[in-house]
Amino acid sequence: MLRFAVLGHPVGHSLSPAMHREALKALGLAGSYEALETPQEALGARLEEVRWGYRGVNLTLPLKEAALPLLDWISPEAQAIGAVNTVLSVEGRLFGFNTDASGFLEALQAGGIPLEGPALVLGAGGAGRAVAWALKGAGLEVWVWNRTPARAEALAKEFGLKAVPLERAREARLLVNATSVGLKDPGATPLPPEFLPAEGAAVDLVYRPLWTRFLREAQARGLKVQTGLPMLAWQGALAFRIWTGLLPDPRGMEEAARQALEGE
Ligand code: NDP
Repeated sequence: MLRFAVLGHPVGHSLSPAMHREALKALGLAGSYEALETPQEALGARLEEVRWGYRGVNLTLPLKEAALPLLDWISPEAQAIGAVNTVLSVEGRLFGFNTDASGFLEALQAGGIPLEGPALVLGAGGAGRAVAWALKGAGLEVWVWNRTPARAEALAKEFGLKAVPLERAREARLLVNATSVGLKDPGATPLPPEFLPAEGAAVDLVYRPLWTRFLREAQARGLKVQTGLPMLAWQGALAFRIWTGLLPDPRGMEEAARQALEGE
């Protein structure tokens, strides 16, 4: 039987079990997907269980970076981004991948969000790194802003981007909120609305709540918008394909995530 899990801390509210159980069901596969509470100091021991007991696992906060030295092989993307969100176990060897970056791009394309720069990525944490790397790889001019400017400058230098002040958002064609601002706080936004551009698109990676203040204000301004759920579904679908060779329908996974969110 196929055995999967998501590892993180805290992991109880992860939407991954709902999404991946839906994928197993839709493909008619017998399998299980658990949420395994795994603090960082327990990651080494947990990965030893994964080695022979699971086909694969997803990693979430705070494990995406910590896993790198513990795996047997890391994909070039995960290596460049510095984060692993998907682990495949084959014959006791652990292979690390990052599907956040490719999932982000697939979600944009599926949602009809034009891949037009300049793109401004708000946030230089793990998600910001994945998004900036993906957009740069897609050939866009990428700008980055971060609350702690030194972090944006370091990322800009590493990936060949430009660190900019927040007001440059006015000139961007694609805005991505990759900060955690807005998470469980419908009144918070990383971007004062007067800095929104007159046209273009805005994507929020935060999906709790689904309609963040950042997205509501971007939509009111007339921008095309996308919530964090399509990316979540796509990174999951791409992880599932790494584990099984089969790409589940991301729309089914997104719907399962939406229902799980609504049930909270
Ligand atoms: P990190 O902890 O690695 O980074 C957090 C980022 O948010 C940093 O850039 C940090 O800035 C910034 N930040 C935090 N608080 C504030 C604040 N008050 N004002 C301005 N900036 C702030 O988290 P991740 O990068 O892993 O995740 C970021 C968000 O993206 C989370 O909400 C997560 O749920 C979401 N996410 C969604 C995905 C999806 O599929 N939809 C996938 C991955 C993540 P500083 O450096 O100054 O601390």
